[in-house]
Amino acid sequence: MENCVFCKIAAGLIPSTKVYEDDKILAFKDLNPQAPIHVLVIPKMHMDSLEDITEDTSAEIAYIFENIPVIAACAGIRNGYRVVSNCGPDACQTIHHLHFHILGGGKLGEKLA
Ligand code: 5GP
Ligand code: ZN
Repeated sequence: MENCVFCKIAAGLIPSTKVYEDDKILAFKDLNPQAPIHVLVIPKMHMDSLEDITEDTSAEIAYIFENIPVIAACAGIRNGYRVVSNCGPDACQTIHHLHFHILGGGKLGEKLA
């Protein structure tokens, strides 16, 4: 995807602070952290959002979730975390490449929205 910021980050064309990377996924620090530790996890394969997950791509997403505990530990999160994916306009999704926020590193607010 030519104009996708997260595809560019995955390709190394835009710098990021990497937390974890393998051939399928990349985790990096959010530019504007909303928690003491705020990491984004993306599949390297472009998908717009959760709405794009199909039978053919769901294994990529399962793989992300298999690795979230590892990524949280790599990021230095020790005492719990929250995982969020904003999907579509009402959820205020701003980057249209599927991503999961991992928020932790301190006590989070009780409300989700
Ligand atoms: P969304 O609102 O789409 O769920 O979240 C997009 C997130 O990406 C935001 O938290 C924003 O701070 C982060 N972000 C946007 N552009 C960049 C960037 O170029 N680098 C990094 N590291 N994070 C970004
Ligand atoms: Zn993309």
